[in-house]
Amino acid sequence: MAETNDHSVANGALLFDPPSNLQNEAHVKSMQQYQKMYKQSIEDPETFWREISAQFYWKSPPTGKFFEYNFDVGKGPISIKWMAGAKTNICYNMLDRHIANGLGDKVAFYWEGNDPNDFGKVTYSELLARVCKFSNVLKNLGISRGDRVAIYMPMILDLSVAMLACARIGAIHSIVFAGYSSESLAERILDATCSAIITADGVWRGTKLLNLKKIVDDALKICDEKGHRVEKCVVVRHLSPSDEVVKTNVNGDIEEEPEACRPSRKLKINWQAGRDIWWHEMMTSVSTECEPEWMDAEDPLFMLYTSGSTGKPKGVLHTIGGYMLYTATTFKFVFDYQPEDVYWCTADVGWITGHSYVTYGPLGNGATGLIFEGTPFYPDAGRFWEIVDKYRVTKFYTAPTAIRALMKFGDDFVNKYKRDSLKILGTVGEPINPEAWLWYYRVVGNSKCAIVDTFWQTETGGHVLTPLPGATPTKPGSATFPFFGVIPALLTEEGKVIEGPGEGYLVFKQPWPSLMRTVYGNQERFETTYFKKFPGYYCTGDGAKRDEDGYIWITGRIDDMVNVSGHLLSTAEVESALITHKNVAEAASVSHPHSIKGECIYCFVTLKQGAEYTNDLVTELKNIVRAKIGPFAQPDFLQNAPALPKTRSGKIMRRILRKIAVGDRNLGDTSTLADESVIDVLFQNRPNNA
Ligand code: ATP
Ligand code: MG
Repeated sequence: MAETNDHSVANGALLFDPPSNLQNEAHVKSMQQYQKMYKQSIEDPETFWREISAQFYWKSPPTGKFFEYNFDVGKGPISIKWMAGAKTNICYNMLDRHIANGLGDKVAFYWEGNDPNDFGKVTYSELLARVCKFSNVLKNLGISRGDRVAIYMPMILDLSVAMLACARIGAIHSIVFAGYSSESLAERILDATCSAIITADGVWRGTKLLNLKKIVDDALKICDEKGHRVEKCVVVRHLSPSDEVVKTNVNGDIEEEPEACRPSRKLKINWQAGRDIWWHEMMTSVSTECEPEWMDAEDPLFMLYTSGSTGKPKGVLHTIGGYMLYTATTFKFVFDYQPEDVYWCTADVGWITGHSYVTYGPLGNGATGLIFEGTPFYPDAGRFWEIVDKYRVTKFYTAPTAIRALMKFGDDFVNKYKRDSLKILGTVGEPINPEAWLWYYRVVGNSKCAIVDTFWQTETGGHVLTPLPGATPTKPGSATFPFFGVIPALLTEEGKVIEGPGEGYLVFKQPWPSLMRTVYGNQERFETTYFKKFPGYYCTGDGAKRDEDGYIWITGRIDDMVNVSGHLLSTAEVESALITHKNVAEAASVSHPHSIKGECIYCFVTLKQGAEYTNDLVTELKNIVRAKIGPFAQPDFLQNAPALPKTRSGKIMRRILRKIAVGDRNLGDTSTLADESVIDVLFQNRPNNA
């Protein structure tokens, strides 16, 4: 039943077929082909992944079983192993392997700075030379296999160099998003007991200058006070040509004022002799060759702390072999990688998306990627599309928070640019409201691109529920079907499997290669968080529903569900209804205690530029929710929210909103909050009756 020419309707939801031009060249061209491959991947995972592993370089094969695991706490410690005993090096596979296959002169990364006049690029051969040099620097600093190295860097090429160099020598990187405070950074350094840190002098984000070195200094001071000394701090000179750095002593007093110092660029850099080292000075005297350290497939590759939407961040540990296989394979199929692609993932490398889909996934395929230092709004809200045209980007990957923020500025900023190179548009990080999905599809993609709504977590290492762009007919707001090797299930509170349509806890039945191995230094927290509630399953902590066509829809975090008079409601549903109103840019809903209903719904609403928050609007919004979901779902409270509390990765922190809704200032851990000032405004704006 075709409704318009670009989609049809299935069971009440819009259905979009894969664009036909894309389908012709795609690795997977039909649902039948997907189903066949999927079946093989879950019935015989060993054969499926063994064939894929043959594309990579292994110094020696696995010594034991290809794949073994225990998901049942009743049967002993939770453990997951892929290709244990096999020897490899992931950096070798990302760089040397492709160069040996003739890709040395191919661009590995384009780099686009915060300032549109700053840009650069690096080929595979150049990247390898830089990585080898920095590997030798790390070795000269006494860092070796198994040591933890903290990385706190802006989105510059040296960030990729730093992480790949760690991987080359077998050191474990722990990247902390360079927007976290010194306390948050210190907490992560201490948890991982890092012996060195790599940073840069500073960075511009939009019109804001951040002194990264100062944040690192403060963090290292906290570490010192807590009895852990970080021996070495390597600093990239990114912002300031040498004549513009103001050197200060330990107290921050200026020691020498350089002659040519533009006020806008003035950065005070503390320098602790013996500990602090300039990157460029170390790089001059080292060789461009470095033999990779041959690692076990199950040796740790990195740890990364989750974004802390629900509580204290967890140090998620990933290992080399499985992570390499899975990130490369998901990248290939989900972005339907073709050799001539220019691929751009806007995520910061400080998040898992930046690990898996800026760095390891694309490099694992020999792809050309783009690293962007700036923000979507600088110099104006057209920056993303300007960059898409400049590099003729074919595959683009961003987050719902960015899409919603850009929608707020209207279509003109998009329409100014051609965007005719785009083929696939991806999203990750939060449920995408159908309204935002449709804007992404129609306005950004000109109704010509496939949208891939990829559901996954820091813990899963790579995409677990996702459409394949040449095969899966998509429904706005649904992450559709499992990727190869992934077996999802929906469970009731009592742990009963829900077959067919229904809603419940989203869990996975067996591991795929890149599922996390443990919480760093805390196996007990690993088992309690993910395996205690439903023995035999990995529990995501997210809720999901399955519709009549088998499509899976993420309904949000289980902690965020609202129970109104016995009806269990997801926050995502209510929010998606609210943002269909033409004046609403973003919405968040939470549960609020209610004497009769048990719980009721409390909504925070951010309006589009220029719109006014009135009583009429409140009535209209209540009616929209009534009409779209049902009278029982009508919110009892609505409040104007000029901004919402978000994690530094841009996710709405509903646990904080729940506190605001009841006027409780006891907010718990707020260290992952991007901007604390929004909290006071929200407390002030609470409706009188709340
Ligand atoms: P923490 O675990 O510390 O609370 P976090 O869960 O926000 O932080 P991440 O691992 O970065 O940390 O995010 C994973 C979560 O993001 C998922 O569990 C899910 O809630 C949400 N998510 C990611 N992608 C999607 C998507 N495509 N659709 C819906 N939700 C998504
Ligand atoms: Mg999480």
